[in-house]
Amino acid sequence: MQPFGSFLGAIALANRLSRSPESGEWLFYPGMLFDSPFKWWGDYQYRVTLHEGIDIRYFRTDKGDLHPLEAGSLIPCPEDGRILNICKDYLGYSMVIEHDHGPSTRLTSVLAHIVPDPGITYNDHVLKDQIVARVSDAGTSPLEPHLHFSIMEVPHTTPYDQMNWDLFSSRKNIALINPVFMQLEHT
Ligand SMILES: [Zn+2]
Repeated sequence: MQPFGSFLGAIALANRLSRSPESGEWLFYPGMLFDSPFKWWGDYQYRVTLHEGIDIRYFRTDKGDLHPLEAGSLIPCPEDGRILNICKDYLGYSMVIEHDHGPSTRLTSVLAHIVPDPGITYNDHVLKDQIVARVSDAGTSPLEPHLHFSIMEVPHTTPYDQMNWDLFSSRKNIALINPVFMQLEHT
């Protein structure tokens, strides 16, 4: 898995927010970060569950202009992998991608609050930086459109159709990983 900062750079490039992966910066409210107990919307009070990943929305260019990820923004695949599941979430869909596997677990990422690109389906092999989805419209939600990104280890025994938010939010038998600390050498 590429470092989280590289993935952020790829998102900025894909949406022409920056000319190079190093220019500009992504901004985060505390409630957007991994394991945060707080909302970054509405009353800013406690979330129902600790945040299972990182929310990505606000990009500031070198000139200081703020360019949020809006509905329809392009989402590149964070790493080579295979689509294990596509399920509903409260703002759109979530895509579960396997990137690697050990003796008993699969290393997966979840792109959430998205609309999968037509033609992307279960078991498809996908490539790093391939555009696989777009940011979903937030509809009537008080939340603004954004990409939620999770990384987790899931047992091999978990059926693909159970890789959904009931499982991710329960944290039962899965190990959520803070994306900021994820860095695997790509072999
Ligand atoms: Zn989130």
